[in-house]
Amino acid sequence: MTITPKKQVYSFDEGRAEMKSLLGGKGANLSEMIRIGLVVPPGFVVTTEACTRYYQEGQILSSSLKEEVGEYLKALENKMDKKFGDAEKPLLLSVRSGAVVSMPGMMDTILNLGLNRETTEGLARQVNDRRFALDCYRRFIQMYGDVVLKVEYDFDEIMQEEKDRRGFQTDMELDEEALEVIIDRFIAVIEKETGQPFPTDPREQLFHAIQAVFDSWNTPRANVYRKANNIPDDLGTAVNVQTMVFGNRGESSGTGVIFTRNPSTGENKLYGEYLINAQGEDVVAGIRTPEMIDNLKEEMPEIYDELIGFCKKLERHYKDMQDIEFTIEEGKLYFLQTRTGKRTAASAVKVAVDLVKEGIITREEAILRIQPDQLEQLLHRQIDERAKLDVIAGGLPASPGAASGQVVFDADTAQEWGEEGRKVILVRTETTPDDIHGMIAAEGILTSRGGMTSHAAVVARGMGKPCVCGCESIRVDNANQCFQVDGRTVAKGEVISIDGATGRVIWGEVPMVEHRISGDFQTILDWADKARTMKVRANADTPKDAARAIELGAEGIGLCRTEHMFFSPERLPIVQEMILAESLEKREAALQRILPFQRDDFKGILKAMAGYPVTIRLLDPPLHEFLPDRDELLVQVNNLRRGGESAELKEKEALWQKVNAMHEFNPMLGHRGCRLGLVFPEIYRMQVRAILEAAAELIREGFKKTDILPEIMIPLVGNENEIRIMREVITKVMAEVEKETSIEFSYPIGTMIELPRACMAADQIAGHADFFSFGTNDLTQTTFGFSRDDAEGKFLPHYLDNNILARNPFMEIDREGVGGLVQIAVEKGRALKPDLKLGICGEHGGNPASVNFFQDAGLDYVSCSPFRVPVARLAAAQAALSNKDQ
Ligand code: PEP
Ligand code: MG
Repeated sequence: MTITPKKQVYSFDEGRAEMKSLLGGKGANLSEMIRIGLVVPPGFVVTTEACTRYYQEGQILSSSLKEEVGEYLKALENKMDKKFGDAEKPLLLSVRSGAVVSMPGMMDTILNLGLNRETTEGLARQVNDRRFALDCYRRFIQMYGDVVLKVEYDFDEIMQEEKDRRGFQTDMELDEEALEVIIDRFIAVIEKETGQPFPTDPREQLFHAIQAVFDSWNTPRANVYRKANNIPDDLGTAVNVQTMVFGNRGESSGTGVIFTRNPSTGENKLYGEYLINAQGEDVVAGIRTPEMIDNLKEEMPEIYDELIGFCKKLERHYKDMQDIEFTIEEGKLYFLQTRTGKRTAASAVKVAVDLVKEGIITREEAILRIQPDQLEQLLHRQIDERAKLDVIAGGLPASPGAASGQVVFDADTAQEWGEEGRKVILVRTETTPDDIHGMIAAEGILTSRGGMTSHAAVVARGMGKPCVCGCESIRVDNANQCFQVDGRTVAKGEVISIDGATGRVIWGEVPMVEHRISGDFQTILDWADKARTMKVRANADTPKDAARAIELGAEGIGLCRTEHMFFSPERLPIVQEMILAESLEKREAALQRILPFQRDDFKGILKAMAGYPVTIRLLDPPLHEFLPDRDELLVQVNNLRRGGESAELKEKEALWQKVNAMHEFNPMLGHRGCRLGLVFPEIYRMQVRAILEAAAELIREGFKKTDILPEIMIPLVGNENEIRIMREVITKVMAEVEKETSIEFSYPIGTMIELPRACMAADQIAGHADFFSFGTNDLTQTTFGFSRDDAEGKFLPHYLDNNILARNPFMEIDREGVGGLVQIAVEKGRALKPDLKLGICGEHGGNPASVNFFQDAGLDYVSCSPFRVPVARLAAAQAALSNKDQ
């Protein structure tokens, strides 16, 4: 039996748009353009499967592939009535890569392939223009030397020398004699560099070019690009071999690139550039300044009309904005490429809404068109890019938005200056929870250390505040209150700007532009809201954040972290007094003084969120986080010791001992969460009382009882006894306050699920919970056994670089491990209580891929930082729609 080998080559006539994974984006679209009647220079595609096979066979072009290419070449020769390598009527080809997902920065194009000294003369006779033929040959040698033979040489230098020698200004002036010299010099350089004669056999040129395209799939830059864009490594690239058409055949020829709509604003108007008498690379190389496409209307009115007509046709056919390459050869228009145009968020939104209005796509398609992550760009203040910027450093783009302000180096000064109405940028080596008040007061945060999920980054994102972190080129000098960068010193009080979307640090104040949800953006979100089934809530701790969250479309607060409320300067001393209290009475007395503050906090938030649920989490972090730093205290104690005995020394020593006693080796796994509430129930009692009294006051002030909707959440439960006991404590306080206020509260009491054990024992825990909220930050830490702070700074980058982990699990939910536990908890929880309310409030709640997973897992809502709310609304709609398709 003979096995027919799998076809490895397709002519453009055999392909279609749907064959993208086999023919690559470019090949499939060239085929499709022919199918719908556009003029495309004929050619064929070597498939992505051939590329995969090439790698499997040890990077050798198989003879069967060479044979198949030969057959298609023959067909092409017949069609064009030319011959490849023929001295009379030579066929010339272009060879280009074509991955399934477009990958800029992979292989460059090779044009004019098939030329050698004989065929060049043949071409000259054929077109009756020897100068043109020589120019094509010199272009070919240059491209082939660079792309296929990998000769690193600045060929343009030779061009320049020859122009200078003859007093020529432009390439166009180079005559036959000059081009002949250039050709000889190019060939000499290449032969010297490679130690091989320059290939004159067109078939050899073609096979080497195909091989070079396959090899370009595996270059470091292609690998980096794939990693950054989540493109699988095993897709391979196709190779497009196409008949040449010449845009450089004089004044009736040209070449250009055009978008069917404006890729920056979305305006429905052709946007692009062209050059008369030029080949493709001239437009990109920037040697000559291209003309705006509008001018073509005057220069070649018929071609312009034809172009407009086909652009519209392509856009209607693909139902999306297209990015098109064309060439005009002696008054005839050819299309060389069409693909979906890359665009800014603003453009993406406008194009999608307009296409719906024009009846080209449905609302559902519009929703699925926009990348949710992109939306955040539309919300933050942004630097007006028209301004001239003095960029002094670059760090990680940790939290988007831009801010200008005076530089300060500690949180207290940030707060002090902030209260005076000054705008400040807090600059730290890295931030700790002690800096929170300074972070609140600052316009933006800049750190020299720490990754995308460092404290500064996480907190800043939570606050919707711009942050650049891990900016290693700056050296923070706290002693002299300045930072150094590149020999420059920036002192306290001097003004800088930071751009959290790009990581730029800029000297001085820069002009900004504001964005709000309106117009097309609002329209898309309205459509998304109708399509989605999951609710979207926000993580917010202050009335201001709560109000912002509502403005951005949040339908409640999924996580109000109460610890942030303990850090403000008028409260911290009382909190510390409470923690250091030697007896229950003293602790309760301190708590009594904290109570009014907490009540006001809750009142503010519940009021801002009237009509929406507010999940308030009882205290979570270990208490020592509220105490002074152990090492700093020791320095103070040692300094005081030098001065001999004193009352202050005694006091400091006692404090240091207490702090020392509370020190934990692994605070993340230490005395925190409900473990605090179990050992010090008085703290949780105070917090619950504050919540209920706040609700009671609002109801008395006239708010509808049905509009004040706190939900009380217990953190870090892992065992049913923990929640059972805590629930008893809470219901007891509820009964007390009900009696005192004569208001009946039926507020839900639930728990965070953020430990693997809680997932496995979810059926037992559900017996005492009205809701579960998955704390996927801690659940990721505890499932992987990673401490996030250590992982991000130490080994996680290595894991990601070496593909040990495909993605950062703190950003995108790990479906198999952490996600698997979530699924178990959902099943077990709902098995016991079918109406158990389920949400997620870890940072994954604002990550589109994770939102998709939570939809599949059957959660009722996701909760994320206010600025991610629009992202989550769109992501939830996409998840619901893609779910519907299955
Ligand atoms: C979590 O663990 O996912 C969570 C939301 O809590 P926190 O980040 O405050 O620990
Ligand atoms: Mg947690």
